[in-house]
Amino acid sequence: MSKVYNFCAGPAMLPEPVMEQAKEELLDWQGHGCSVMELSHRSKAFVDVAQQAEADLRELLGIPDDYRVLFTHGGGRGQFSAVPMNLSRQGQRADYLVSGSWSAAALAEAEKYLTPNRVAEVQVVDGLKRVSDASSWDLDADAAYFHYCPNETVDGIAIDGIPDTGDVPIVADMSSTILSGPLDVSRFGLIYAGAQKNIGPSGLSVVIVNDALLGQARAQTPSIFDYQLQAEQGSMFNTPPTFAWYLAGLVFKWLKTQGGVAEMHRRNAQKAAMLYGCIDDSDFYINAIHPDYRSRMNVPFQLQEPALDKLFLQQAEQAGLTALAGHRSVGGMRASIYNAMPVAGVQALVAFMQDFEKRKG
Ligand code: PMP
Repeated sequence: MSKVYNFCAGPAMLPEPVMEQAKEELLDWQGHGCSVMELSHRSKAFVDVAQQAEADLRELLGIPDDYRVLFTHGGGRGQFSAVPMNLSRQGQRADYLVSGSWSAAALAEAEKYLTPNRVAEVQVVDGLKRVSDASSWDLDADAAYFHYCPNETVDGIAIDGIPDTGDVPIVADMSSTILSGPLDVSRFGLIYAGAQKNIGPSGLSVVIVNDALLGQARAQTPSIFDYQLQAEQGSMFNTPPTFAWYLAGLVFKWLKTQGGVAEMHRRNAQKAAMLYGCIDDSDFYINAIHPDYRSRMNVPFQLQEPALDKLFLQQAEQAGLTALAGHRSVGGMRASIYNAMPVAGVQALVAFMQDFEKRKG
């Protein structure tokens, strides 16, 4: 089977040189006579891998010294629970901006622990989806934190500017946007991300948390989700997902060789412009997101004639363009074009879409 361009939203494609290196050293990692996944997480060899990965991530994102970086379990959804357990007290309120299905799911989970305040939601104006203007948001100055998702993976809605929440710390679910461009970490109280899009394989999540927010976990917080404890233990309170952590480290190294997040931003903007350009130039494909809120990572689109969906997906697959079906909750199509998707992959998709439109439209 020849290599395909995989447009899956996650687990997503990983950079080819990273996969090549992992293959190369799978059975004998750096002369140890065994795989990196067979090493003790407490061995010096693995601790070096872990620390190097953190150092590279810090460098890539310019993470200030007063932030801890945790490599944890439980994916993005694990953090939907860990955030309220660590950052709020019983009976407190927290602000949740709902810009799509993942931030809605985060709010629903938080309801188990606190009273979430729905700050704003998605509106449809002139047939286009957008987030209501920040001036109309119902912010609570006493909220324990403000939670939002800067890139909604299912809906393809992105919020580019960082909201102004006064003294209320900002918590961001960056699962599908972290490392896709420059980021001012100092504006956030906490950033979290499941790894399986722009970081590495699933099974790992990364938390970047300001020191000031540590040490407030509720008594019943499971120890593996206690930020303070994990920070003290170098994310090794229990056995971390070591192979995923190692692969994340290879991805960070790859990002550095490519020119870091500034170069990723340039490429991602180019890829997104090509794909939205193709959609907007046609009467056959539709993306109903307001241009100011369009995601550069996940591009959902529909065919004017949904009866052709199946044929589109079948023929795309035959052309080596896989996993283009939209999320099961919304249908249609979705192209996820994270850092590891080369420009050539988007060019191939655009060529296929134009050809399909000519033949079927
Ligand atoms: N948040 C966002 C923005 C996501 O895209 C996802 C998964 N696609 C999640 C949270 C949930 O992640 P997980 O499946 O790792 O729990």
